[in-house]
Amino acid sequence: MIYKRSSALFAEAEKVIPGGVNSPVRAFKGVGGTPIFVKEAKGAYLYDEDGNRLIDYINSWGPMILGHAHEPVVNAVVEKAKKGTSFGMPTEIETKIAELAVSMVPHIDKIRFVNSGTEACMSAIRLARGFTGKDKIIKFAGCYHGHSDSFLIQAGSGASTFGTPNSPGVTQGTAKDTLLANYNDIDSVAELIGANKKEIACIIIEPVAGNMGCIPPKGNFLKELRLICDANNILLVFDEVMTGFRLAKGGAQELYGIHADIVCFGKVIGGGLPVGAFAARNEIMNYLAPEGPVYQAGTLSGNPLAMAAGLAMLSELNTDDKVFKRLAEKTEYLHKGMFKVLNDNGIAHTINRVGSMISVHFAKDEVFDFSTAAKGNNDTFKAFFHGMLSHGIYIAPSAFETWFLTDALTYEDLDYTINAVHKVAKTL
Ligand code: PMP
Repeated sequence: MIYKRSSALFAEAEKVIPGGVNSPVRAFKGVGGTPIFVKEAKGAYLYDEDGNRLIDYINSWGPMILGHAHEPVVNAVVEKAKKGTSFGMPTEIETKIAELAVSMVPHIDKIRFVNSGTEACMSAIRLARGFTGKDKIIKFAGCYHGHSDSFLIQAGSGASTFGTPNSPGVTQGTAKDTLLANYNDIDSVAELIGANKKEIACIIIEPVAGNMGCIPPKGNFLKELRLICDANNILLVFDEVMTGFRLAKGGAQELYGIHADIVCFGKVIGGGLPVGAFAARNEIMNYLAPEGPVYQAGTLSGNPLAMAAGLAMLSELNTDDKVFKRLAEKTEYLHKGMFKVLNDNGIAHTINRVGSMISVHFAKDEVFDFSTAAKGNNDTFKAFFHGMLSHGIYIAPSAFETWFLTDALTYEDLDYTINAVHKVAKTL
């Protein structure tokens, strides 16, 4: 495939946009080469500026669960746009999508809309801190909750006492309130709670991790988290930015039967427009301004175009009760197909999958947390990524990202993909 025009566009972009991109992972730093510039997309396919067609396994990092330029979503946005694009005043559609979301997701009474997953998670922990009157939070190494300061933290040398910034610009003052535990390791959580008695407001987790490849929660891990939170008066925050409205109507809470105190959303809930949200039971949500003391706001929050896209998307997911099953079946088919060809070719790998989230780690042992994910062979991943691209298949340009399947994929697309994996495996 030829990427002449993409390369030229990237060179132009680099002159006026830092690194040529508006979000780092797009720059292909992890895999090398030049990012692909998209011209348009429809269904399961991307069409780039050089005229190549790519089967898309990223789908805007999740939102396009029913495919690109999905007609009901496009029509809803177009019709809304004709009537004005922003008012900064209440609109009926905000209540409509809120009612629908509350009816689909268990254990939530109220929802507040924001503009990104970052905002949702940032606001959720402020609310948790305000509600509990405590400052510290626990997050898990390898989980991503957006780029607000409190989350750009890595384990410090005194890991059981405090974290350290992992980006310049995040202060040590902020870092000291974020504690790092290991995913799927309840003992690491208990240790942090023991060392910070009565100081922890919340534990935030991706109930299925998607930012170190796809990592499912093991056994009773989520249940044990719930119990440890209850025993210590700590709120459990599920970051369902990836999993919400993707793994089930009610997200991971429904899939695993675990009750979270606060739930964060993004991606699917906006149908591809900039939307995030956080939600909880009345008692917690009524702590938010203007009802309560915890401040949170947004000029464009509840924006009519974004709400129209989100409402069209959620309405369809709510009425098509087979969609999540179909998606899971397609993903299982891909999993089985890839496993066979990688195995037949003797490539050490681990495939993790939950519902329509899947990833391939080039590591032979089980991948269940950040350190086991980091054991994957990055050179093999890079070769795999570029091999797949040469066959017109776009997977995440990083070994630490999850693939998100769209229902627009056909079994023909999946067979083509498995066949490409077969061809690429021979070159690894
Ligand atoms: N939480 C999770 C689990 C995410 O995967 C992401 C983004 N990939 C975010 C939060 C941040 O969302 P956004 O990029 O919309 O700010």
